[in-house]
Amino acid sequence: MRALVKSKAEPGLWLEQIDEPPTQPGSVKIEVRRASICGTDLHIYRWDDWAAATVPVPMAIGHEFSGEIVEVGEGVDGLDVGMRVSGEGHITCGHCRNCRAGRRNLCRNTTGLGVERPGAFADYVTLPAGNVFPLPDHVDDELGSILDPLGNATHTALAFDVVGEDVLVTGCGPIGLMAIAICRHVGARFVVATDPNPYRRGLAAGMGATLTLDPTVASPHQAMADVGMVEGYDIGLEMSGHPTALHQMIDAMNHGGRVALLGIPAEPTRMDWNAMIFKSLTVRGIYGRRIFETWYKMTAMLQTGLDVSAAITHRFAVEDFDDAFEAVASGEAAKVLLEWA
Ligand code: NAD
Ligand code: ZN
Repeated sequence: MRALVKSKAEPGLWLEQIDEPPTQPGSVKIEVRRASICGTDLHIYRWDDWAAATVPVPMAIGHEFSGEIVEVGEGVDGLDVGMRVSGEGHITCGHCRNCRAGRRNLCRNTTGLGVERPGAFADYVTLPAGNVFPLPDHVDDELGSILDPLGNATHTALAFDVVGEDVLVTGCGPIGLMAIAICRHVGARFVVATDPNPYRRGLAAGMGATLTLDPTVASPHQAMADVGMVEGYDIGLEMSGHPTALHQMIDAMNHGGRVALLGIPAEPTRMDWNAMIFKSLTVRGIYGRRIFETWYKMTAMLQTGLDVSAAITHRFAVEDFDDAFEAVASGEAAKVLLEWA
């Protein structure tokens, strides 16, 4: 089968013929139809320090996908050949305390699809049955391939009650963009979004942001008066990983505000703990998705009018994968899809 493989410990990816993965007991084999490129894949493509330390070579990469089950392993119940599915790329151990309590997203022994085990940028991928998510009819193959990042957005946006609240979203990458749409969908009052990239601010406006601003020339605090806010933001969703964004957010939060951190800073970041303390802020780290609560929440929202289709900006044939990665790297894109079947 074809697969996008990190076959050498150097920048780049290679489209190669490799053996189809065997369908182990308890697993299913999925024919991949659509896959989507994540920031993680770009790290692996560029072969930065994190990738070099984490990804064994050779490795077929990719973890955002949708497809159809073509083979069901021994002992699998509830999944059948022909089902349209996506899947959770965090493979959890099943025996740690959190796994045993049903809190699989907090497993301490996770392995990553397309990072530490053969991934979904391939004609076929295998996945433990417990990681497979059947797609409802109202979720097409393209949307099905971005449920992983939509799940990050959902997990973050629903971390706190945003109904009737004023929300600050810092960072309008694909995940921030989709979080804006979710906040609007569930009933936030104002959603102010920041990003230095004008292309992404344009997308943010299209996703329903009340106001977008360039954080290098204006601050979310200054923007409050423009939308009619008086005291400060109730909810902060940090989606950039950029220290400036976090500082601007802490500065603009109302007392008692709640902050969810999804963006991953490249290095340790200084923090104004005094502001955090004197404003009595609640700050929560968000990793991955709740398995599978987040998946049910997001597909239910998609059924009742949540529209994130504008977050898909580019589609490429697999053979043109270099162009696809270039589009992601340019910043003039959001979700970039690879068409497999
Ligand atoms: P992305 O890199 O495409 O988006 C980040 C955006 O932040 C960019 O549009 C960038 O222009 C913007 N930005 C840069 N500096 C800024 C500033 N000072 N203020 C406001 N915006 C600024 O990434 P993405 O795919 O949307 O992911 C968002 C973040 O979440 C990344 O840091 C990523 O590593 C992280 N992430 C975390 C998890 C998790 O489970 N915690 C999962 C996936 C991604
Ligand atoms: Zn576990």
